[in-house]
Amino acid sequence: MFTVKLKKGREKSVINRHPWIFSGALQNNDMPSPTPGATVEVLDSHNQVIGTGAWSPESMIQVRMWSFDPQEKIDKEFFRNRITRALQLRDTLGMMHPDGACRIIAGESDGLPGLTVDFYAGFLVCQFQSCGVEAQKSLIIEVLNEILKPEGIYERSDTSARKKEMLEDSIGLLYGSEPPEHIIINDKDLKFKVDVRTGHKTGYYLDQRDNRYALSDACKGREVLNCFSYTGAFSAWAMNAGAAKVTDIDSSENALSIAAENYTLNGFAPERYEQICGDVFTELRKFRDSRRTFDIIVLDPPKFADTKGKVNKAARAYKDINMLAMKLLRENGRLFTFSCSGAISAELFQKIAADAAVDAKRDVKIVRRLFQAPDHPVALNYPESLYLKGLECVVC
Ligand code: SAH
Repeated sequence: MFTVKLKKGREKSVINRHPWIFSGALQNNDMPSPTPGATVEVLDSHNQVIGTGAWSPESMIQVRMWSFDPQEKIDKEFFRNRITRALQLRDTLGMMHPDGACRIIAGESDGLPGLTVDFYAGFLVCQFQSCGVEAQKSLIIEVLNEILKPEGIYERSDTSARKKEMLEDSIGLLYGSEPPEHIIINDKDLKFKVDVRTGHKTGYYLDQRDNRYALSDACKGREVLNCFSYTGAFSAWAMNAGAAKVTDIDSSENALSIAAENYTLNGFAPERYEQICGDVFTELRKFRDSRRTFDIIVLDPPKFADTKGKVNKAARAYKDINMLAMKLLRENGRLFTFSCSGAISAELFQKIAADAAVDAKRDVKIVRRLFQAPDHPVALNYPESLYLKGLECVVC
């Protein structure tokens, strides 16, 4: 097996079980380079083996740790153990239902760096986002099949993380039957259509599930504006809770039309909702100019900052939409505002909301902090796994 050696003074994060080793932490050596994804032994500066990882030559993160136990072999048994443990966690959380949906592998947080596996009513959708999991793909598929016996396994490895590893996009059926055009999943009382082929991420925003339940607590008899509505999951929960009227804004006509299909699927009549195909920044200004107001506003934008370099620009965009939304809320209205940019910390996001409140000239109080759903757990040795932050605010 190839070995890589950490520089003196750069061992601490691996000893603390952080799964990433940046190229700058490694000593240069003259040994031939392993092939991408190969398993390497990681040595501290005294040549003690402290674990094993996968080699990613093109990425700034040059090694992703598989194991911190030098004795553990990276073989089928290893993947079986990690996948079983991840499934047990979802079982413990009560999140595995045969006709439901759940993230069953959340990459580093489940000890499988770069791997995402989502379960959608009998089908699995996978993203292999690092050289390590790419190299182990067939073994991982074999184990997933043995344990879960899915109807089919579909690959959606078309992510920006994969590009950083210089891996080409890879999309298509890996095993079993082709999923239908739309898989219908049950989320408690509601049903949603999921397009695993062309939908965002693996087709659906599983990470927002609990926040939609939180929204529904506030919706009875209220007028709700759902910005960045995608396939309408927040709106469906609002209508399910008895919202008087829901307005969706999204720039994607296709997303809005699937949203409308989802409303029909759940028996919500067209009179209960309105859909606007447009740019949220522009549409919120139009509402402000026409003095239209709402009781509840959801702001769930796409990732505005995908790197640290984009934080300032992203902060201005977050502030702008939050300021506009605060202006549009009626007295004691409720704002559910989110950021899924890992580069924006919870602290910074709160500060952005505070700046927005000043500009909107509204008194705003946080009444609940929101977070990604429990099947997207945050491993304490890998704090980067906390990416989705939300604030439920009352705007006076
Ligand atoms: N809230 C959704 C997920 C939002 S994903 C859910 O719970 O499922 C982000 C959505 O924002 C996408 O549907 C995308 O089409 C839309 N979008 C991105 N930029 C936009 C913009 N400037 N104006 C309106 N919609 C936008």
